[in-house]
Amino acid sequence: MRRNTLLIDADDTLWENNVFFEKLIEDFITLVESCGFTRAYVRHILNETERKNIRQYGYGVRSFGRSLEETYIKLAEHLAKREVLAQIHTRVVDLERTPPKILDGVPETLAYLTERHRLILFTKGEPEDPRMDDWQQPAQRHQPRHADRPERRVHPTPAHLAART
Ligand SMILES: [Mg+2]
Repeated sequence: MRRNTLLIDADDTLWENNVFFEKLIEDFITLVESCGFTRAYVRHILNETERKNIRQYGYGVRSFGRSLEETYIKLAEHLAKREVLAQIHTRVVDLERTPPKILDGVPETLAYLTERHRLILFTKGEPEDPRMDDWQQPAQRHQPRHADRPERRVHPTPAHLAART
């Protein structure tokens, strides 16, 4: 059989990802609701802030954390509290440390494919994201060439996937 090169999406394909961000956004909105805005308005300001920051800092957890903090400061203005910023920071750090939740069937599927094809894992985020440490070999680290298009190219290692399930 012909050996192909397969580009594999990672977030929300190999493992759950977006659900953790959405959960944190809900917690964040609850945290800042006390500023007197509706939940929809807080989300709207967060979305706007994220759109701006993604262009500059990419899609990673740290860019997301920056957006949460900026949104809070925009909404709370001079009433912004240091302890609320600290709480937001703690939640972002927790998110960053959350191990990937591998979806059913992924380790077996990758093990099958890697025998037959060349696999390249593509995902977004910061190159230093500790959640990716087990997933890449140093020689294959890929630095984004464009600040507005951060992407990560690593080779998946089915042994690591199997170990994590
Ligand atoms: Mg994806």
